[in-house]
Amino acid sequence: MVEIGIIAVGGYNEVGRNMTAIRIDKEIVIMDMGIRLDRVQIHEDVEIERMHSLDLIQMGAIPDDTIMNQIDGNVIAIVCTHGHLDHIGAIPKLAHRYRAPIIATPFTIELISQQLKSERKFRIDNLLIRLNAGETYRISERIELEFIRVQHSIPDCVFAALRTPEGAILYANDFKIDRYPILNDPLDENRLRRLGKEGVLAMIVESTRVDVNGKTPSETVAKDLVMDVITGIGDADTGMVVTTFSSHTARILSIIEAAKKSGRKPVLLGRSMGRYFEVARKMDYIKFPDDLIVAADRRQIDKTLKQIMSEGKEKFLPIVTGHQGEPGAILPRIADGNTPYEVEKGDKVIFSAAVIPTPLNEANRYSLETKLRMKGTRIYTGIHVSGHAAREDHWELMKMINATHVIPAHGSLSMTGSYAELAEELGYVLGEDVHLLRNGQEITLR
Ligand SMILES: [Zn+2]
Repeated sequence: MVEIGIIAVGGYNEVGRNMTAIRIDKEIVIMDMGIRLDRVQIHEDVEIERMHSLDLIQMGAIPDDTIMNQIDGNVIAIVCTHGHLDHIGAIPKLAHRYRAPIIATPFTIELISQQLKSERKFRIDNLLIRLNAGETYRISERIELEFIRVQHSIPDCVFAALRTPEGAILYANDFKIDRYPILNDPLDENRLRRLGKEGVLAMIVESTRVDVNGKTPSETVAKDLVMDVITGIGDADTGMVVTTFSSHTARILSIIEAAKKSGRKPVLLGRSMGRYFEVARKMDYIKFPDDLIVAADRRQIDKTLKQIMSEGKEKFLPIVTGHQGEPGAILPRIADGNTPYEVEKGDKVIFSAAVIPTPLNEANRYSLETKLRMKGTRIYTGIHVSGHAAREDHWELMKMINATHVIPAHGSLSMTGSYAELAEELGYVLGEDVHLLRNGQEITLR
């Protein structure tokens, strides 16, 4: 009889810094190593690249993996399901402590290697292994990994299924059920249903938006919203600026298409815009227009904005960073009058992103919107759909997988607790086969 342990390392008390360890007797597979950026941003002058892991653990910014010292076993692989920082951001700080390869999809591996290049404190030489959605990889004699295509809000997302002698363990963190995506294939429903029939011992699943009723709309709905606003605004002679997530390539492609349709030249501006663009461009299934203007460093950005001002704001559609009001990002700099781009009465600012509800973001966004309004800007918020499953999506997945045990993750206790209530509606019993874990706890499944 093989003993299976699930160790909640990070992301079970909060949204962010995800890390779960799955122990199959003495073989351990780590799922995700994420960072929680709001814990870093509240301090001024911190340079994460130069910081030590233990200081970041102390700040609550990265998972406290020192608990792994008490676990009897060896880490044999680190697996990441997608490239968001709350899933890969702690790799530069923690991965060197394990002699194990890092396995992820090609887009995610590119983002991980970019991160490793900018790390200044630690030398990370873990082997990087690219595994495509739909493929399997043998981690050890008894453990096989399979990547199953899902959709979220960054290219190339997967679920990770670990096949063990006791049945499969599905790591479903993060996802949405999108049957009409803009990029990559829809979620591999057939495979998930088959997996459910084969028998899933445990499903570890995100719970961020379980309290939102109904279904999260498809990314095609977001595309319609973007198209409707950008091509539907009558004032063709005003300035227009869009802000969205730099990592949300599908959304950026929709905005670029809308820009072209409305006769404006799309321009990508910002350090992270440039960074994700470089990675996306390497993937042959992502097509950007050849004449797309991209400016990533400050000098280039200001030069481009100057050019826009002299040629006419109405001819361009800048797609910029700063949707959460982050100080130093492009849109807050524009609002502060710290760039050559001047917003004036009647200009439009479109937020193709929701506010990530932390007090810090809310304060920054309030200040950003107020400054823009004071200049007479017209503001369009909520031109967006989420990348996370809502309650009925969770219901659908839970039924599809039919796991013996369910472990909600990636949320505060109110979110994981709400997920447990949903599971109870399907017949699960709290503490028996739906489990609420806190950071630092391990449960053993039989
Ligand atoms: Zn994510």
